[in-house]
Amino acid sequence: ASSTAKSYNITLLPGDGIGPEVISVAKNVLNLAGSIEGIEFKFNEKLMGGAALDATGVPLPEETLTAAKQSDAVLLGAIGGYKWDKNEKHLKPETGLLQLREGLKVFANLRPASVLPQLVDASTLKKEVAEGVDLMVVRELTGGIYFGKPRGFGTDENGNEIGFNTEVYAAYEIDRIARIAFETARKRSGKLCSVDKANVLEASMLWRKRVIAIAAEYPDVELSHMYVDNAAMQLVRNPKQFDTIVTNNIFGDILSDEASMITGSIGMLPSASLSSSGPGLFEPIHGSAPDIAGQDKANPLATILSAAMLLKYGLGEVAAAERIELAVLDALNRGFRTGDIYSDGNKLVGCKEMGEEVLKSVDTKK
Ligand code: ATP
Ligand code: MG
Repeated sequence: ASSTAKSYNITLLPGDGIGPEVISVAKNVLNLAGSIEGIEFKFNEKLMGGAALDATGVPLPEETLTAAKQSDAVLLGAIGGYKWDKNEKHLKPETGLLQLREGLKVFANLRPASVLPQLVDASTLKKEVAEGVDLMVVRELTGGIYFGKPRGFGTDENGNEIGFNTEVYAAYEIDRIARIAFETARKRSGKLCSVDKANVLEASMLWRKRVIAIAAEYPDVELSHMYVDNAAMQLVRNPKQFDTIVTNNIFGDILSDEASMITGSIGMLPSASLSSSGPGLFEPIHGSAPDIAGQDKANPLATILSAAMLLKYGLGEVAAAERIELAVLDALNRGFRTGDIYSDGNKLVGCKEMGEEVLKSVDTKK
């Protein structure tokens, strides 16, 4: 069967802190799920972040970016740590991540936030509000107020010191993020809520107009609109009303963090960043967690679930993706927990052992 197997090139960027620990586990899970589903992976591991700074003097070596661009998908661990916190901006590990996003032109950031029945007690919300939450925030990542010009500092007509930024969206930027959001909603429950501030901001008025125009291509998706202040409120009042949310860069920055806190489990949450045609970037939302690095304590499930998103949204390999998602649920059902999600009566395991348990579940759920 191996001669007919589909084959993909995956760039692995372990990075810093717990990054190498969680990437090593996720790689094994990808390999096994792939082999069961007739998919072969060729892994190419590259330096990124602080590890790259120490070895090469820059946070994103040319060689790493080239390899990433030429691959089918990129799986990143985490970057950064105390050691580089005082570096100048261009020599910070985080700058490498911004350069990577720019280099791959990933304009769509997908962040699911699900309250799993096994972990409902971790939620910051009351059980009856948190139970059953399963939503996805699609955030525009390369436009809007974080990039718009003019920007800067200055003085107004009265001599007051000012700082200013500009929110700019071109119709094509809204159209392409809207299409990804409609496609995403279609793969989920078919409900899309577009969040804006169209009662006040011109960039939001265009946003709403374009989202409505693109909706004509997706008659099967049910579209609604909400102002961002209301959305922030509804997310904690009744998060179950949402399935897929699409919004601009700054609103998405805020709402996706709000949504992740509903779940209360930072070690469980994956993300995907997609472009129109090139490779996507897949990474856990947590950072490098230097406080627990090298101790085999990290929860690898966020990275394993990022690998599942890589399969589903990056390669279109839905069966292999669902096999991994089910395996994660199965390992949790069998009571295995890393420290960050541990509760009484469960079995406390480290990063490697959690990985072994997920592998067993991938294997037995044939
Ligand atoms: P960054 O700025 O890189 O996002 P941060 O300091 O904001 O980093 P994290 O590195 O994500 O945030 O860590 C926040 C806290 O959550 C830390 O106490 C860390 O140990 C914990 N944590 C993060 N990820 C995990 C994980 N995968 N497993 C267990 N604990 C984790
Ligand atoms: Mg942080």
